[in-house]
Amino acid sequence: MRKTYQFRIYPGRKQEVVFNRTLSTCRHLYNDSLAERKKQVELNRLRKTFDVFPWGKPEWINYEDQANDLSASKTDFQKDVHSQVLQNVLKRLDRSFKNFFNGFGYPRFQGRDRYDSFTYPQSGFELKDGKLILSKIGSFKIILHREIEGKIKTCTIKRDIDQWYVSFSCEIENPIPVEIKTKTGIDVGLIDLITLSNGEQIKTPKFLRESEDNLIHKQKRLSRKKKGSGKRNKQKIIVAKVHRRIRNQRKDFAHKISRMLVDNYDLIKFEDLQIQNMVQNHCLAKSISDAGWYQLMNLTEYKAAYAGKSVEFVNPAGTSQTCICGFSVPKDLSVRVHRCPSCGLVMGRDRVSANVIEIRPSICTVGTTGIHDRQGLSIESRCSGTPKPF
Ligand SMILES: [Zn+2]
Repeated sequence: MRKTYQFRIYPGRKQEVVFNRTLSTCRHLYNDSLAERKKQVELNRLRKTFDVFPWGKPEWINYEDQANDLSASKTDFQKDVHSQVLQNVLKRLDRSFKNFFNGFGYPRFQGRDRYDSFTYPQSGFELKDGKLILSKIGSFKIILHREIEGKIKTCTIKRDIDQWYVSFSCEIENPIPVEIKTKTGIDVGLIDLITLSNGEQIKTPKFLRESEDNLIHKQKRLSRKKKGSGKRNKQKIIVAKVHRRIRNQRKDFAHKISRMLVDNYDLIKFEDLQIQNMVQNHCLAKSISDAGWYQLMNLTEYKAAYAGKSVEFVNPAGTSQTCICGFSVPKDLSVRVHRCPSCGLVMGRDRVSANVIEIRPSICTVGTTGIHDRQGLSIESRCSGTPKPF
């Protein structure tokens, strides 16, 4: 199985220029290759309209075609980038198309702010004597604050506004499955609260709410600035940095909670929010809080997998309207205490839900709805809801 390690790196000014140039070259390649595929789709559509397929079948451009074209003719910019990094760009595009065929959005052209990483998929990088050596770029000091387990398979360089990170994806041995002795159900609240089946509750820390208020404030200022002005661009960076701060705070929080859950329980059960969202209508506040919950669930899933433990998902229908004994106890949101007329149970509403989740049989999440596949997508894409190509 794969495990990812991320470290911050500190490139010098000249190296940063090379990093940015590499990103730019990759982004152009991505957009050009996407345009090429789009053109072919359009051509096929026209041919279909006029019923002229000279060889009887529509032609499609695939990864192999584009990779062959690339190695046959490279621009001067592309010659400055390691060939596998370029091939990986085409792979990302290919994956975007595959995601599209699995029900996600059509691949988008990538703006300068959106294309933020490049990957060495096999070779071209080396860790040696506290240094990371990248082919065609140079070497950097790197502090490995965590020991890397397993064999490094890929190396990805990421830009986060003005900071740079490297992440290594490593092949590690599958852990031995743990015998299930302890388990819990988790009820995820509408507001920033989770409840465990033993009644324990965890609230999202207050500083997160504060940062979010700060973000709204900074965004308002941005919207008042004139388009295309220097002040607007500066404000944009300020907003992006607040976003990063929130993202990091959320991630830290999710890491802590998921660690606690995996340390304490061998089997952890959640509601499947993706199914729930299809039933309920969308509102912004909910989608924001859901994004946080997805991250928590994903991290718990990953940590559990490394520990040989399991995370399961259950159908969310009516978890708050049912008693542990199975009796239906309808109640609207304002009713905080659950009272069962059948078995006489009196308990906090959220705690009952957590218990119902714990005892409910889990669903097979892969392919049940046709649009999501819990194993197939990267952690970032699963957290943000729509997949980025990387
Ligand atoms: Zn009951």
